[in-house]
Amino acid sequence: MTRSALSCPLQARRCGGCPLLGTPYPDQLAQKQRRAEELFAAFGPVEPILGQAEPLYYRNKAIATFAPGPGGLVCGTYAAGTHRVLPLPEAGCLLQDQVLNRTLTAVLEAARACRWPAFDEDRGAGLLRHVLVRRAVHTGQVMAVLVTAADRLPGSRNFVTALRKAAPWVTTVVHNCNPRRTSAVLGRDVRVLYGPGHITDTLCGLRFSLSSTSFYQVNPAQTEALYRTALDFAGLTGRETVLDAYCGTGTIGLCAAAAGARQVIGVELTPSAVRDAAANAARNGIKNARFFCADATEWIVQAAKEGFRPDVVFLDPPRAGTTPEFIDAVTAMGPRRLVYVSCGPDTLARDLGLLRRRGWQARRLRPVDLFPHTEHLEMAVLLTRGDAASR
Ligand code: SAH
Repeated sequence: MTRSALSCPLQARRCGGCPLLGTPYPDQLAQKQRRAEELFAAFGPVEPILGQAEPLYYRNKAIATFAPGPGGLVCGTYAAGTHRVLPLPEAGCLLQDQVLNRTLTAVLEAARACRWPAFDEDRGAGLLRHVLVRRAVHTGQVMAVLVTAADRLPGSRNFVTALRKAAPWVTTVVHNCNPRRTSAVLGRDVRVLYGPGHITDTLCGLRFSLSSTSFYQVNPAQTEALYRTALDFAGLTGRETVLDAYCGTGTIGLCAAAAGARQVIGVELTPSAVRDAAANAARNGIKNARFFCADATEWIVQAAKEGFRPDVVFLDPPRAGTTPEFIDAVTAMGPRRLVYVSCGPDTLARDLGLLRRRGWQARRLRPVDLFPHTEHLEMAVLLTRGDAASR
């Protein structure tokens, strides 16, 4: 574990990506523990935070933005609160997988060789907006996604050849067109330039295929710690029907199926993630899992009316948390356990308050440090209804 404070040349230039880098890691964990205890004091004792053994270079995904600069083009991160691009430091980012740091450099060099201009947000002219790279740490497969403003990418073959020469570990290259004025990095149009268009990773012993637009947790080692905690909270015996709400590529639900759930239903809004989830079930020989593409609240309200009665519900919503309607519908279904996985501690506290009004008690609350050196706080919470006897 890192005991001393670290530094990065971009810190002084306000990259903002790792505000706690100057705080020794054990102190960061103590800070997060205190914050969780303060936020959730009304709901029960908070178990000790699960910290990361090696809290550097953990991110399996990195995004850099292009801007005009030396060599015609630079790429890097925005200075906090601005649209000023800070070129990546030579040693790479301390939070990103080292192979991804090298991949970003190779992408920049290949784009320079193609003489592609950066997109200029103010004038609405130019070509390259961002590059997203993702690495499956267990298989070593790497995806590079070039995001452009226009849908034409002349010379893309030369780009792929140059990139593969400098970074032969890249297994697939994707072109994503995002013409909109938006803070979202990816657009909807996707064209595969090289390889299969997805990468395959393993997590908790299962294989997962990830396309460029699907959500996937960014810290693989800590995701396993988080999922193990969530599965432990679920207390599966082999007889349960499990609902995995906000399921992404189906990771939690499929781990539950592998851990012995009788049946798994996943619900997710992003179509590509739902396709990935179904393919992931097949890839792992899991036949008792089904995935639906829908808004989680709309789906559960309808399913409650139709008499769907899961025994265990996992919910892992985005930072905005879930909705009162979801909570009413899940309560009407009468599951024995709810396992709430949250990346938004404030909305979690709000939702735990709503759940309590519907009779749900938090039985276990555990922070997991999914994002070392940042202020993010991830939580897993087990809730049951009524007295301890029905746990
Ligand atoms: N459990 C997954 C994904 C968690 S992230 C994992 O651990 O990888 C939250 C997911 O919720 C994202 O995949 C996002 O696309 C999805 N989502 C966002 N809003 C949603 C909604 N209203 N209904 C269903 N899914 C939603």
